Amino acid sequence: MHESTDDETRRRVALLGSSSDAATRVFTAVLTRSPISRIEVARLTGLSQAAVTKAVTPLVAAGIVSDALDPQLTGLPGRPVSPVAIVPDAVVTLGVKVNVDELIGVATDLTTRVIASERLPLASHDPAAVADAVADLCDHLQKRLGALASRLARVGVAVSGDVDRTTGVVRDSTLMGWRAVPFGAMLRERLSVDVVVQNDVSALTVGEHWFGVGLGTRSFAIVTIGRGIGSGLHLNGDVVEGAYGVAGEIGHLPLTSPDRICACGRRGCVEAVAATSAIEAAVSSAHGRAVTIPDAVALARAGDQAAERAFAEAGSVIGAAIASLVNLVGPELVIIGGEGVAHFDLFEASLRQTYDEHVFSSAGLCRIVVRPHTFEDWARGAAATAIRSLAG
Ligand SMILES: [Zn+2]
Repeated sequence: MHESTDDETRRRVALLGSSSDAATRVFTAVLTRSPISRIEVARLTGLSQAAVTKAVTPLVAAGIVSDALDPQLTGLPGRPVSPVAIVPDAVVTLGVKVNVDELIGVATDLTTRVIASERLPLASHDPAAVADAVADLCDHLQKRLGALASRLARVGVAVSGDVDRTTGVVRDSTLMGWRAVPFGAMLRERLSVDVVVQNDVSALTVGEHWFGVGLGTRSFAIVTIGRGIGSGLHLNGDVVEGAYGVAGEIGHLPLTSPDRICACGRRGCVEAVAATSAIEAAVSSAHGRAVTIPDAVALARAGDQAAERAFAEAGSVIGAAIASLVNLVGPELVIIGGEGVAHFDLFEASLRQTYDEHVFSSAGLCRIVVRPHTFEDWARGAAATAIRSLAG
């Protein structure tokens, strides 16, 4: 990365990074609800209006928040409202989703609006080669930012598996075949700005919480279906990562027969039946030839019984996993996403039937929605984690 971050951007990053807890809450409220009245910021954060003004003043002075708004134009009710709004391009972040065969990257403003996006095929899973490719992709994205290139504040990278966000170590990624890879440190050697590495579903959850369907919801979960089955939990207003960063691994709940062996090496996992590779294996074995997921989808839609059965079995196990999650933590909303949503019709009946059979009492008030996230949405989630990391 050749372009260097300018002094004004460095000052903004330093201010956000040194914010008090109250100032971080105020920044987050303005960021996600902009434009917003100071009274509403006080209500959302539980702070006094004096405390809100104290937190807002340095943000305005640094050009991160604007108070020079016409109340008539903001459409906010009540007066006087003294509205404030985020300055979206005060800083720019990059978000990169590491997929098994390619990188998807976006450059975004503070509201995760996509300014530029790029894809780069991965020739190898060797960690150093992937780190080189991430640096190349960031370089391409930064070049496309034009005058905004000097506003680059941070890079967020989303990787499947057990990722330690504080150290950037990918402890275990079955998809990439990585164990104890110090990916954050490898990226820091190659990038001109700081980087945060996070589990990909957690990153998507941060994006949905701040800028997606999770906004305004106190407790929700994202369940992703596809190559892996994962979940991100957002409870009582915060993303749940657990003591070791692996909360929400519903793909490895032991809900299937012990004779089903998971790619993680354990027996009876949800993924051993419901992951893309498990569905491919079941249909391949029934037909005595290698069947890929697009073929399996076509077969099932044409009425092939083995393919229909494989998807129905997967849907049933996913339904049991979602019921387990809902019974355990009681969210208001479950968002089903991931690349498997493209053929959700093949899972849906058995998923909903098993879910309805197992969900307990009022936990069943939880709404389930299906959202076809694009890979760009995952990269935006990575950018959202970079933005979150700026504010402490
Ligand atoms: Zn497993």
